[in-house]
Amino acid sequence: MKVMPNRMDRGFQMYQNEFETKALEVLRSGWYVLGKEVSAFEEEFAAYTGGKYCVGLASGLDALWIAFRLLNIGAGDEVIVQGNTYIASVMGITMNGATPVFAEPDEHFGMDPEKIEALITEKTKAILVTHLYGMASRMDEIVPICKKHNLRLVEDCAQSHGACFNGQMTGTFGDVGCFSFYPSKNLGAFGDAGAVVVNDEALAKEFKIFRNYGSEKRYYNKVVGANSRLDELQAAMLRVRLAHMQELTEEKQKIAERYSKEINNPAIKLPTLVPHATGVWHQYVLRCEDRERLIDYLNKKEIGTIIHYPIPPHLAEAYAYLGHKEGFLPITEHLAKTVLSIPMYNGMTDDEQTYVIDAINNFQ
Ligand SMILES: *Cc1c(COP(=O)(O)O)cnc(C)c1O
Repeated sequence: MKVMPNRMDRGFQMYQNEFETKALEVLRSGWYVLGKEVSAFEEEFAAYTGGKYCVGLASGLDALWIAFRLLNIGAGDEVIVQGNTYIASVMGITMNGATPVFAEPDEHFGMDPEKIEALITEKTKAILVTHLYGMASRMDEIVPICKKHNLRLVEDCAQSHGACFNGQMTGTFGDVGCFSFYPSKNLGAFGDAGAVVVNDEALAKEFKIFRNYGSEKRYYNKVVGANSRLDELQAAMLRVRLAHMQELTEEKQKIAERYSKEINNPAIKLPTLVPHATGVWHQYVLRCEDRERLIDYLNKKEIGTIIHYPIPPHLAEAYAYLGHKEGFLPITEHLAKTVLSIPMYNGMTDDEQTYVIDAINNFQ
């Protein structure tokens, strides 16, 4: 049996008729940018998260860099970010000229609150938390640190749509929750798309102005903005999927539950959530000291895997200018050498799950 790491075709087939009907409706409407689909999606997604306002944008990276831009974080400012995040989180900081200060993660791949305070300086303006792999971070400890030091809190929720801490959804704890709807994300579009969730009405308005060349009224430009609009077609597709978000999330949670219960190979370390957190399992990430051999073994059984991520941002060529060398973040670097994401997607059959579980249990 061949099992791929992800199957976006399955996610499409689950609601194929709804997607196709809605897409035709938008195509025939004659209105393609900033119309009723975007407004409706923004309202529905804000309601879904429990945040007050949602503003649709062109991508998750745009959500991040525009968030820091509108929070006035730029040259000379520092933002604390976990070392094991996806590099786009860091680009959101550096695109504004600000400096990322890397923190080591905890045992659950999340921001480690105990590592934050030692990194705070006079230049620290914000903390960026990534709920990596769809596992919520320790917000009960992180929020008070932000309050105590008067720091902004931005959440990278590109992988955590619907994940909660203490019953509250990620993306609603701080100043801005940044979302990506890239096709492979838990809430995926059929192209690039993103959004922010904020509780402050004035800030929401600033995002709306910024995404449209800095204009509120056509051809009257208040600020130098960007073109970062979510288009009608993607918004409409996202609305279709959002209506099924609960069942989509529960399906992934059931697969994760099976993996956690049935994978019992002593050579494999399973992912664990912090207390009071839920996971939506954007990825199910194992750790294995003998990872390269495990990858080869699974490949031979036609089971595809992905490493999220093989090179931590501080060691990426793009960030050589920051001057960090190997050994700077030992925990992060060890994770980069040992993590492995196994197949996890909506529409994964029981047989596929069993095949993956048995293969991993037979690895020696
Ligand atoms: C996907 C992702 C992003 C970037 O989102 P895009 O929509 O691809 O720009 C940012 N951060 C994390 C953690 C991601 O997984």
